[in-house]
Amino acid sequence: MAVTALRTKDILYILDEIATEIIANKEFLTEIDSIGGDGDHGVNLERGFLGVQRQLEQLRDKDLSTILTLVGSTLMSSIGGSAGSLYGALFMKAGNVYRGKEEIMAVDLPIIFQACEDTITSLGRAKPGDKTMLDVLHPTTEAVSNAAGESSDLVYVMDEGAKAARIGLENTKSMIARKGRAMYLGDRTLGHYDAGAASLCLMMESAARSVKKLDSPDKPRAP
Ligand code: ADP
Ligand code: MG
Repeated sequence: MAVTALRTKDILYILDEIATEIIANKEFLTEIDSIGGDGDHGVNLERGFLGVQRQLEQLRDKDLSTILTLVGSTLMSSIGGSAGSLYGALFMKAGNVYRGKEEIMAVDLPIIFQACEDTITSLGRAKPGDKTMLDVLHPTTEAVSNAAGESSDLVYVMDEGAKAARIGLENTKSMIARKGRAMYLGDRTLGHYDAGAASLCLMMESAARSVKKLDSPDKPRAP
């Protein structure tokens, strides 16, 4: 068996799982941001994703583009800080790319991930190696693009992306922050994760796990 397409109910399930994962990791994200930033990343994201979870119930009959755009605007208006505008823009971009589409297939993923990476790059003006969420997004985009060229199974493509995300996150430990608040700490950020890289890695891993569950005989239900 393979998962070859994601439709509205699957996307709602994946978003609900991502929200649950982020909320469960509030302390972990806050702790990382206390070392390299101002300690608000976990609290900020929790606020945003609680808002998203409250919204999901009303989105059952909406198309993919509307769902992703609304999630983006909720995140943008409720997270605050740098991450609010970055994650907000990322999900809104995803919504924009999917306009008019009924389902997401493996071949769509490289386009969407690249569009999200370009949005984060143009907004934040960071480069890979600057110790930001881009250090997870860039290798994930690359892995997803390669995997989608090999297989139409979304379980495989998302899993490859999640593995690259984790490696990208681990690599942030050996980087010195050059963007955001953490930049002012310079080489004191060495040896620690970047907060945004950690939250994005958790989202990617959660999405990959959720897609895998869609493949099981006991398929999950939308919230
Ligand atoms: P703030 O820095 O305003 O307190 P958060 O703590 O919520 O916001 O988010 C910090 C995260 O945002 C960082 O760990 C980093 O991953 C990401 N970030 C900050 N600035 C940039 C940037 N210019 N480009 C990409 N990501 C960035
Ligand atoms: Mg912060």
